[in-house]
Amino acid sequence: MKVVILGSGSYSGTPKPLCTCENCSRARINPALRRTRFSLYFDKTLVDPSPDLHYHLERLNKRVERVLITHGHFDHIFGLPELQVFKRLKFYSHREALEVAKSLARLAFGSESPEGHEWSYNKLEFWEETRVGKMKVVHFPVTHTVTAGGFVIEVGGKRIAITGDTGPEILKDERAIKLMEGADLLIAEMTHREAIPGSHLGVREAIELAKRVGAGYTVFAHISHSNYPHEVLEKRVREAGIPGEVARDFTWVEV
Ligand SMILES: [Zn+2]
Ligand SMILES: [Zn+2]
Ligand SMILES: [Zn+2]
Repeated sequence: MKVVILGSGSYSGTPKPLCTCENCSRARINPALRRTRFSLYFDKTLVDPSPDLHYHLERLNKRVERVLITHGHFDHIFGLPELQVFKRLKFYSHREALEVAKSLARLAFGSESPEGHEWSYNKLEFWEETRVGKMKVVHFPVTHTVTAGGFVIEVGGKRIAITGDTGPEILKDERAIKLMEGADLLIAEMTHREAIPGSHLGVREAIELAKRVGAGYTVFAHISHSNYPHEVLEKRVREAGIPGEVARDFTWVEV
């Protein structure tokens, strides 16, 4: 199964308009260094409809049947109206993110589904295993600036763990680490150079988390323009001996 990181960036993307930092300046010259906002895709499943979703969908060109949402922040959900190309969709998240999803649909379409579409909103309770199609999904809470969660998804005998946006408190959350432990693929956020408590991981914390989880393969994503250059991050991951890589947009992994 192919897992595609559609967007490897954080809320402002890279380049951020008007920013003159090294990453933004380089990305304006080299498109391979651009980072759109975070989203990923596997097996007709989209995680987080980012504001860059139109670009993601036209390039991916695959059908979406279900949408998992980590949290209701702009960079993870505001592309939702772009999903109107799909008639039947099921959204899954905890109550607060679903409320944001419904409000966006109402703003765009005047109701919770575009006309003639069947969209349903399905509430997940944290820590409860839920069947989503042929997948088993556990949504677990993380410490972030709003109610937010990660996912552990079992599909086709493989386990995929996704941290979503999380503060460094996740390193002390034995229950979350136990749930993610030994996943075939871990997708971990690595937003900043240094961690911000209650908000995001730094490079060191993201690597520490990957070591603790011990996944078969780890992909680091949700990388801010103000983080170290891509090559430096890659070197850090290599030196830590972690089987994995730092995502670019449309990095894909076979699990
Ligand atoms: Zn984010
Ligand atoms: Zn910048
Ligand atoms: Zn966020």
